[in-house]
Amino acid sequence: MASRTQELMKILENEPAYRLKQIEKAWFDVGINSYDEITTLPKDLREKLKQFPWLSLEVHTELKSREDNTRKFLFKLADDNLIEMVLMGRKNLKEGATDESPDRYTICISSQAGCPMKCLFCATGKGGFKRHLSAEEIIDQYRFAARILAKENNRVANIVMMGQGEPLLNYDNVKRALNVILANTDLGETKITVSTAGVPHAMEKLLTDDDFPPVRWALSLHSAIEESRHAIMPSHKKGFLDWLVDWAKRYREKFPSRTHYIGFEYIMLSGTNDDERHLQALIKLCKKMPYFRVNLIPYNKISDPADPTPEIALPEDPGFKVFERTPPELIEHWHESLMAAGFTSTIRYSQGQDIAAACGQLRNKIK
Ligand code: SF4
Repeated sequence: MASRTQELMKILENEPAYRLKQIEKAWFDVGINSYDEITTLPKDLREKLKQFPWLSLEVHTELKSREDNTRKFLFKLADDNLIEMVLMGRKNLKEGATDESPDRYTICISSQAGCPMKCLFCATGKGGFKRHLSAEEIIDQYRFAARILAKENNRVANIVMMGQGEPLLNYDNVKRALNVILANTDLGETKITVSTAGVPHAMEKLLTDDDFPPVRWALSLHSAIEESRHAIMPSHKKGFLDWLVDWAKRYREKFPSRTHYIGFEYIMLSGTNDDERHLQALIKLCKKMPYFRVNLIPYNKISDPADPTPEIALPEDPGFKVFERTPPELIEHWHESLMAAGFTSTIRYSQGQDIAAACGQLRNKIK
């Protein structure tokens, strides 16, 4: 199926180059809700554009957390594939902010329908891979969020590409989507974090691709011991950790600014990657790395009886596993040990756990 970009390009092939930019600008104007309203375009072009839906996704299900300001949207795409996006809101605590100040939302967006990486702790990996998202399907998750938040006098303050999919396997579409979002919003590059399980050939390409925007990268590490990383992340290749240290040094040469640190994501799985041997391995790895931060993430159980929606029938995946949570005291011990070793460490308490919107819980569900 041709992506909307390809179809648009065909319609615009005899138009001046700036027409695409005009259309992209209008996509991000929350006051414009149809191609017919883009008055900067000639009428005959607006007529031709009417064949495209204004948004490439429609809401299938919306869930609101009872515990915090989190909403999860299940979207249906034109070919009936389903993807998820999560809105996580926080009060604006900046100096001078009042109760009337817009809440600051982080949106967690998807880059693929499903995911082929099969990480054992991840509900998306359980469902398998459906297809890459087009650049428009990625952009439209932002556009959808921006529109509903604007109606509430709220705004998107950050984007994390940590929803369904491995972004670096969908390199070109992710790159175009990020560039279009950056060109048409007030978000800076460091307000966008893209998370990868580690795709070395694509990470090598990043170092020489000056058109890929300098967003922040989060690396799903989850173990600094090769064998146990491979056991929970089947995509792990032998030698990855040594290669990662070397890559990170070259990345730092390209982006010497401290704002371009690499975030190590570490989901703590009881009895799997949370013993002293794993902690010492992580500290050893950290000692070799340039600018980075460690984000310790309590595991979110995938089968939650409080989850209000039943699961879509998913293909059987015998490799998928339900883990247990690491006790909070042990997570705290890791955090303090990392800090004592001189590293920046945070513990991420995920929002939206009651609606399966937290880390590792995203999967398509229907009522
Ligand atoms: S953790 Fe990320 S890379 Fe791994 S299966 Fe889930 S979505 Fe894919």
